[in-house]
Amino acid sequence: MTKLVILWLRQDLRLHDNPALIAAINSNQPIIFLYILDDTLNIGGASRWWLHHSLDALAQSLQKKGATLVLRKGAAKTILPQLVTATDADKVMWNRRYDSAGIAIDTEIKTSLGAAGVRCESFNSHLLFEPWTIKNKQGKPYQVFTRFWNHCLEQPTPPIPLAAPDQLTSVEIASDPLESWNLLPTKPDWSGGLKDTWQPGEAAALARLENFLDELVADYKEDRNRPDLTATSRLSPSLAWGEISPRVIYYETRRMMHNNSITARGGQALLSEIGWREFSYHLLFHFPDLPTAPLKSQFKNFPWAKDENLFHLWTKGLTGYPIVDAGMRELWHTGWMHNRVRMIVASFLVKDLLLSWQQGAAWFWDTLVDADIANNSASWQWVSGCGADAAPYFRIFNPILQGEKFDPNGEYVRKWIPELKDLPNELIHKPWQASTARLSVANVQLGITYPKPIIDHDKARHRALAIFHGLPKG
Ligand SMILES: Cc1cc2nc3c(=O)[nH]c(=O)nc-3n(C[C@H](O)[C@H](O)[C@H](O)COP(=O)(O)OP(=O)(O)OC[C@H]3O[C@@H](n4cnc5c(N)ncnc54)[C@H](O)[C@@H]3O)c2cc1C
Repeated sequence: MTKLVILWLRQDLRLHDNPALIAAINSNQPIIFLYILDDTLNIGGASRWWLHHSLDALAQSLQKKGATLVLRKGAAKTILPQLVTATDADKVMWNRRYDSAGIAIDTEIKTSLGAAGVRCESFNSHLLFEPWTIKNKQGKPYQVFTRFWNHCLEQPTPPIPLAAPDQLTSVEIASDPLESWNLLPTKPDWSGGLKDTWQPGEAAALARLENFLDELVADYKEDRNRPDLTATSRLSPSLAWGEISPRVIYYETRRMMHNNSITARGGQALLSEIGWREFSYHLLFHFPDLPTAPLKSQFKNFPWAKDENLFHLWTKGLTGYPIVDAGMRELWHTGWMHNRVRMIVASFLVKDLLLSWQQGAAWFWDTLVDADIANNSASWQWVSGCGADAAPYFRIFNPILQGEKFDPNGEYVRKWIPELKDLPNELIHKPWQASTARLSVANVQLGITYPKPIIDHDKARHRALAIFHGLPKG
């Protein structure tokens, strides 16, 4: 009798450009399409919401092609051997992951199943370039983005994306109902803003890419720092869950640049951001402690403050700095925050409040729909000054100037902090400088309807500089 192959889906929730899927089909064996909710892995609340809807979308796409998605909950290292025995499978296929916990699980499974005569095959679906293939002249990992990315661009181009299969068949076995996993919040259901903002799933991700390349990429280079505009692709949650392949983004962007349907300026800017994502994964793979430990050792004993009240005010968007608060409220409401504003709020947490980047990263992890262990860890370290190619410690974002520069008409602030909407543009980023009369006309009562600044930025800046300056030299 023909043996079965198990296709173990993880952060590759798509049918297009899915090398493990195509390899399973090419084996000419009956396939089990499996997703395991591995509760030994930590998935944040907003990501759980996304995962629910993405699995739902994937199950529907599979069904349209004739296959069924099987859901199982538990530790993968227990579930997989059980399933292999119960179904008499002789192969398990998956696309690779790059975080240390994931690699450890995969290695253990590969070894134990291998010893039982079950072949495990893994593929790259998540990155353009495998992290171990990119090394500097000394054979070491890169720690400077431009050198890393230039080196990547000198490599043979990544494999051409694989088409989604037309038809599928699968083996039907018992599956958990998706609802039984309770991935959606109920008490309370805080997901209203997520529902209004996002459509998870592969089809919606491909449509977002198409729309971005048709409508937005032309001005992307100029406008990508403006949170008041819809100027970026919003592909991050889909990339995080593998609903879209980075190779599809790479090839589609290059194809449109070559036939002049989009400008090289816009296209290159997008590819460079995809490059930053590759760089984060490069760092995560080569420095597995990236999520917890600073890359620059002189930051190891940094005297971070511990102040739950200040942290709470930051999370709730109640710092009294409008651009910071707008960002934190956008995050809470939609599960996403504009990149420029992520930098501003992160800088405020670690440099103005002196709270640790790990604390900030953990909040992002729980609230972002695009929570990505590589991007989140590398970016927090970058802002804090302790990561690879990091912003130097003396770069401390001024929340007023940043607001005035990147939200010049205050529209972003007005959207997320309606209680300030009647302030004039010249005061919207610094309401505490408004006269009592101006505040009264705008119906703002500082300290009552909107907080006074929880810290004086200039003083906080000097305090941070003094501490950073005193760090041991790296
Ligand atoms: C403190 C902090 C935390 C962050 N946490 C995450 C996270 O958990 N998950 C995440 O995907 N991104 C994270 N980022 C990076 C960035 O903010 C988001 O990728 C971006 O805002 C997503 O929006 P977009 O898809 O419209 O981006 P676009 O500008 O359209 O870029 C396209 C894609 O390129 C990648 N990209 C863009 N900017 C960066 C960057 N600076 N670093 C790495 N990759 C990038 C993303 O995959 C993004 O989807 C973080 C940035 C900061 C400063």
